[in-house]
Amino acid sequence: MKITIVYDNVTWQPGLEAAWGFACLVEADGRRLLFDTGGRGEVLLKNLEALNLEPASIPEIFISHSHWDHLGGLADLMRVNRNIRVYLPGSCPRPTEAREVISVQGPLEIAANMFSTGELPGAEQSLVVKTENGLTVICGCSHPGVGTILAAASRFGPVAALVGGLHGFQEYELLAGLKLICPCHCTQHQAEIKVRFPKTAISGGAGRVIEIG
Ligand SMILES: [Zn+2]
Ligand SMILES: [Zn+2]
Repeated sequence: MKITIVYDNVTWQPGLEAAWGFACLVEADGRRLLFDTGGRGEVLLKNLEALNLEPASIPEIFISHSHWDHLGGLADLMRVNRNIRVYLPGSCPRPTEAREVISVQGPLEIAANMFSTGELPGAEQSLVVKTENGLTVICGCSHPGVGTILAAASRFGPVAALVGGLHGFQEYELLAGLKLICPCHCTQHQAEIKVRFPKTAISGGAGRVIEIG
């Protein structure tokens, strides 16, 4: 599977714009799904263009939670691609423009090897992708808590990688068994995570591409 960070608080690649928020394109088993949409639609569309990613080629969007920095770009994206299916937490208001809205309550299989943890306490869902080497968990801000998210994801198998915003997370021992950690967006203690896990923690940033086997 491949993750391309499209929107982040910092950039990884020149030519992209940094802005507070998070979005990444997830490609696995021939499927393309955008995880979150960042805060500002014009930044999302500009970064997609800079990455040569055509909005019309993205049929599905997974929204982690309703905060503006994850949901804000959705309206502009749907203006250029109306033919979109949106997965969003059950408590989230439904966007009227979408072709199809799937309101996620409990754990859900989205496709073969692709799951939602379901809406967890904190009104947030995380995306779980199964590969041969374990699960990759992608989270928006981790408002439910990283421990809660990892426990919810582990119903689908052993977790190997964690990518996304970890907010004020400090229970570092939870990351000890992971093969890859990409703490980005709102993660307050990125530096500490990199010091503790120098072999497995990597930087995020808009334009970063992460390939996971
Ligand atoms: Zn956020
Ligand atoms: Zn948030």
